[in-house]
Amino acid sequence: MLYRDEAIVLRTHKLGEADRIVTLLTRQRGRVRAVAKGVRRTTSRFGSRLEPFTHVDLQLAEGRSLDTITQAETLTPFSKGLGLDYDRYTAGTVMLETADRLVAEEREPSVQQFLLLVGGLRAMVAGEHAPGQVLDSYLLRSLSVAGYAPSFDHCARCGTLPSEGATHRWFNPSMGGMLCATCRVPGSASPAPETVALLGALLAGDWAVVDPALARNLKEASTLVSAYLAWHLERGLKSLAYVER
Ligand SMILES: [Zn+2]
Repeated sequence: MLYRDEAIVLRTHKLGEADRIVTLLTRQRGRVRAVAKGVRRTTSRFGSRLEPFTHVDLQLAEGRSLDTITQAETLTPFSKGLGLDYDRYTAGTVMLETADRLVAEEREPSVQQFLLLVGGLRAMVAGEHAPGQVLDSYLLRSLSVAGYAPSFDHCARCGTLPSEGATHRWFNPSMGGMLCATCRVPGSASPAPETVALLGALLAGDWAVVDPALARNLKEASTLVSAYLAWHLERGLKSLAYVER
């Protein structure tokens, strides 16, 4: 059985002498691992179309365990735009690894995760916003789609809203976000109110708030996003270590 789908290439690894196993986030079928035969030969008809970051239109043949890629056309070569900028490239790498981890089940359709990743990579290449904030916004939104939506306004434990114009003071990744004074648990962080507002703006994609934010608030927000992400994945993301936070 042949089928078509579009996908972002998340990662690849070698198989035998000339083949690769390609891990894809597809639009229709979620995460799929497929074989690309002969892709490591210089004469391969796939060229560089099955490298990480590439947005491809694919034809695949269903197999018993792994499907086989029979055709690949490039839709958007995101790696071309990212490869020239170290910060954007490393942030993009974290996005691919996060998508790979958050869409853990094979063939579990996740159109929202696919669209978020395409949108995030497009924003990373466009360069209209700083790479660290494109990454943070993507991470908060992909965690939300995966069922780990953080709360930056009401208390994550009791649901109380802060008083008008204020924010709750305590942040704890294990509790799901901000906590009121009553629900506060030991070991919670106490970010600046501006940082809490910034986190809400990153989650909402409110760039009018994010773009002019102060460096110290951006840095504090990035630290809290990393802590939140690390809590929700069993172990920290390898690639996150290379991003300046
Ligand atoms: Zn509370």
